[in-house]
Amino acid sequence: MKFPPSLPRFPWIYCNGLSFFVAKLRFSWYIGAKQIKGTILVNKKEKAKAIIDILKQRYDDAACALHYAKDYELMIAVRLSAQCTDARVNLVTPALFAAYPTLEAMAAADIADVENYVRSCGFYKHKARDIVLACQMLLTDYGGKVPGTMEELLRLPGVGRKTANLLLGDLYAVPGSVVCDTHCIRICGRLGLSTGKEPEKVEQQLRKILPPEESSDFCHRIVLFGRDCCTARNPMCGECPLTMYCKEFNPQA
Ligand code: SF4
Repeated sequence: MKFPPSLPRFPWIYCNGLSFFVAKLRFSWYIGAKQIKGTILVNKKEKAKAIIDILKQRYDDAACALHYAKDYELMIAVRLSAQCTDARVNLVTPALFAAYPTLEAMAAADIADVENYVRSCGFYKHKARDIVLACQMLLTDYGGKVPGTMEELLRLPGVGRKTANLLLGDLYAVPGSVVCDTHCIRICGRLGLSTGKEPEKVEQQLRKILPPEESSDFCHRIVLFGRDCCTARNPMCGECPLTMYCKEFNPQA
């Protein structure tokens, strides 16, 4: 939608003949394209709202599936959940949090020792190192608290946009927090709410259409929906309450 490619700024340049006609055409096309884009956006917003309502009925509770009691424990659990299931993380964290019951203890932990606790989560060397270094940074730079802005969170070792959005949504209830994980990318693509597979692009698309105060809960519910209905390999379309909105099921949706 980059048309018109080069509209000169001064209208008197178009003051005669063909140039004027071409400029007028370009301008009409430009306005038309904007209107279509606007209509699509409005339609997608309405569709997102309808999907949110159905998911709310199906999943009353939109809480994060990871178990934690303290803010830094959620940060650690989310780090461990990369390329791993939440269920596996919930099996591992009780022993880890018991061995290092405070932020100070976790920051002072021997990384090799932490590796032993998190080995079954995969990528355990990276994860153990990130956990200890991030806890150290919480103490040195953030007064012992998980910070509440995207910029600050992204400075923490092992924290990317997905983790940061989850922490903002769950710890600070920041409106517009979109946790763009594999379930979210897959299902929102199938539903026609987003296109592509790049997390940051999907996040931006969803941020435009989801009501900001609903976005964090929506993402938690999408994870639940992705586990028990719209799975990656064998989606259970026969039992799905969203068929009427699904482009995978009905390309006209
Ligand atoms: S109809 Fe099938 S593919 Fe579409 S959202 Fe439902 S389960 Fe997923």
